Amino acid sequence: MTGETGRENLARFPRGAVISPVTQQSTACARILPNGPQRGDNRFAAREEHVTPDDLAHLQRCVELAKEAAERGDHPFGSVLVSNDGRVLAERSNRVVTSGDVTAHPELHLAQWASVHLTAGERADATMYTSGEHCAMCAAAHVWAGIGRLVYVLSAEQIRAVSSAPLMIELTATEVIERSNANVSVSGPSEELSAEAADLFQ
Ligand SMILES: [Zn+2]
Repeated sequence: MTGETGRENLARFPRGAVISPVTQQSTACARILPNGPQRGDNRFAAREEHVTPDDLAHLQRCVELAKEAAERGDHPFGSVLVSNDGRVLAERSNRVVTSGDVTAHPELHLAQWASVHLTAGERADATMYTSGEHCAMCAAAHVWAGIGRLVYVLSAEQIRAVSSAPLMIELTATEVIERSNANVSVSGPSEELSAEAADLFQ
């Protein structure tokens, strides 16, 4: 970090460039994984949807949980699992520092919770909302749990711009989902909340 705020770092991304992450990241995928799936291969394509007004309340709760994590000394990430009729099933914030478990990411916890407590059909109909696009570990857990939808505030690229934490695996959640045989729709980033979420990385 060079003293810039997260919001200023985020401003480097043109507004028009943050609204279609799947398209952008498919390009990145082709660069990082030259033998990976090609665009137009429907077997691998993540279903692309956009963040809707109904999603925003759940995303706002994710940002609140991320703030709670930051205030506790943990990394600023929070996630919520929601059923297809809009009920909040479970929520979690990052606990990497305070638990001493380097894998204590909220998305991994919720994928494990869903696997134990929900039927396969309920998981397919559920949505995981999160303040930041999953890391590769959590994206793999999301795929294994068969959760049908992922909606995030900050994209992996945006997180990289504002976080000083080392990138452990050079794969975004969208890329992991595209390389899986799971049918997961991906929405994000959220222009309404991305600056607020980015500010938590200071
Ligand atoms: Zn993770």
